[in-house]
Amino acid sequence: MAKIVRRVKAKIVRLYRGGLNIEQVKAVVLEDYPKITTDCIHSLLRKWFIVRADELWAVAVKQVGHCAICRKTPDLEAHHLISRDNYLFRWDERNGVCLCSHHHRFAPDIAAHGPAEAEAGFDDWMREQMREHKPEQWQWYLENKDRKDTYKPAIDDLVAVCDKLQATMKVRTRGIRNGR
Ligand SMILES: [Zn+2]
Repeated sequence: MAKIVRRVKAKIVRLYRGGLNIEQVKAVVLEDYPKITTDCIHSLLRKWFIVRADELWAVAVKQVGHCAICRKTPDLEAHHLISRDNYLFRWDERNGVCLCSHHHRFAPDIAAHGPAEAEAGFDDWMREQMREHKPEQWQWYLENKDRKDTYKPAIDDLVAVCDKLQATMKVRTRGIRNGR
């Protein structure tokens, strides 16, 4: 079937967010795309909310405002301690560390992703610095890092993740504004 234009994608999300179920969404969108299927709407919604959850998670992790290793503030990125392939923890803030792009991907001595020496340096940093400065997060990581799971979130799970991240950030931003 024809590629769905962004305007219609946004419309599908809006309708679904507005409380329509997938069948009802389909009935409306049939005007634009007579051949659209519920499967297609389902996978479109799923992809859309995964992208949105990824964005929100990254913004939430970067709210700390500096690289955990060098404290620099430009070019910040959000690093997943436990691979993002594991949907159980992909949008868990405890699974995130704010790093500059250098320490996320490029530094030859300490980088979360890179050549073996760089990744070994990052592991050392985690063992020494996280244990000391972020003991709860370190503990959480140790308890969960080897957990394998085949959990695959449903669309409504993804919507809940997005709402939760958004609400957390709102509270935090308000706290900062009030000087807390
Ligand atoms: Zn850095």
